[in-house]
Amino acid sequence: MDFAPTPRQQAMLDAAEDIMRVHRERQEARGQDENSRFPRELSASLGEAGLLTLWADPDVADPFSCASLVQELVGYHDGTAASILFVNNAASAILSRGCSSPLNRDVLDQACRGKINFSFAVTEPEAGSDVAALQTTAQADGEGFVVNGVKSYATGAADADYILIVALTSTDGPAKGGTSLFLVPGDAAGLTKRKLVKPTGDAHATCKLTLEDVRVPSDHLVGEHNGAWRLLFLGGVVERLLVAAVSVGVAQRAFDQARDFLSERKQFGQSIIEFQAVNHRLADHLSEIEAMRWLTRHAAWSADCGIDAPSRINMAKLFASERGSAIVSDLMRLVGGRGYFPDDPLNLAAREIGLSLFAGGSSEIQRNGIARGLMATPAAMK
Ligand SMILES: Cc1cc2nc3c(=O)[nH]c(=O)nc-3n(C[C@H](O)[C@H](O)[C@H](O)COP(=O)(O)OP(=O)(O)OC[C@H]3O[C@@H](n4cnc5c(N)ncnc54)[C@H](O)[C@@H]3O)c2cc1C
Repeated sequence: MDFAPTPRQQAMLDAAEDIMRVHRERQEARGQDENSRFPRELSASLGEAGLLTLWADPDVADPFSCASLVQELVGYHDGTAASILFVNNAASAILSRGCSSPLNRDVLDQACRGKINFSFAVTEPEAGSDVAALQTTAQADGEGFVVNGVKSYATGAADADYILIVALTSTDGPAKGGTSLFLVPGDAAGLTKRKLVKPTGDAHATCKLTLEDVRVPSDHLVGEHNGAWRLLFLGGVVERLLVAAVSVGVAQRAFDQARDFLSERKQFGQSIIEFQAVNHRLADHLSEIEAMRWLTRHAAWSADCGIDAPSRINMAKLFASERGSAIVSDLMRLVGGRGYFPDDPLNLAAREIGLSLFAGGSSEIQRNGIARGLMATPAAMK
């Protein structure tokens, strides 16, 4: 078995590393105040390098593996960049599989050239884990649709050119057969966005959306009318893999920062890392981060090969988000009082990785997915 990145994967990793270096230099030159501004240059560079539309590029035969490697690396460097990568890849994966009009193709083409940013709005006040309980409607009207409803959390919506919205297009029968996807322009009349206060990630703001008689032409429908469910399934799988990968990146960053600090800081006449009570904890954490990494990469490889991917991705997401959050929380404690303050890097990492417990679905929903697989085909009958 060869675990090394392929030449194409390595080229993507090199491109991502360069983009992150330029972004860091730009941030340092501008100062902290710039950190809550949407970094359009960063998003354009990631887009131009093809990193925001990995499922849309026909030359990429292994999008899950490429995405997991790049997302881990970007997550290691910067939370905002990781969020931009996550949202755009999930939305563009759906759009690329559901490209049903010249408008869809044009938007996707622009996204592949780094000209477009997406947001992806599924969650509603009454429909979180239970997506099928959605209440947003899109009613056919003349040449298009009229959309009404509320979306609770749409990350990136404040600066998105297009928001991929999920809405009911038929109320006859279950939502799974009566739901459609629409590309709603970010500046559509009747669309109101309210930025939500988050513990971190203001530069890629999460918004509450209200849609009041928002008119979208029929060529803004993505995929088939009433045919969203198959595309949403793909979007969910992509999201969960990317959450697992970013958890690995953030946990590794926190680990490296804590190890450096604990090596330098001395108490009782020696480096804190020399106390066995400390270095055994670090040894456990590093072992688990390695397990998170390879579970995630293996799940990505399985998806590229078409082998039982959804279940393996559920497992990777569950393990990486749960263990990653616990590890970063312990690292924050290990560095002592400085970890309590919001401007401490360990504190930032803990806030960043906290989202992994909800993004792409909570741990209970991952367990439900894994358990469904257990009950589907008894081993003895395979
Ligand atoms: C910062 C942030 C950004 C987000 N960005 C986006 C975005 O861009 N687009 C988007 O669409 N959504 C987004 N979300 C929403 C996210 O996907 C949801 O929070 C998540 O799916 C859970 O839904 P909920 O919060 O409504 O919780 P609920 O579904 O209400 O769940 C509440 C609790 O009940 C548990 N629960 C629910 N059902 C079951 C069950 N069957 N069995 C056992 N336990 C269960 C859950 O695990 C959870 O602990 C974002 C969320 C956050 C916090």
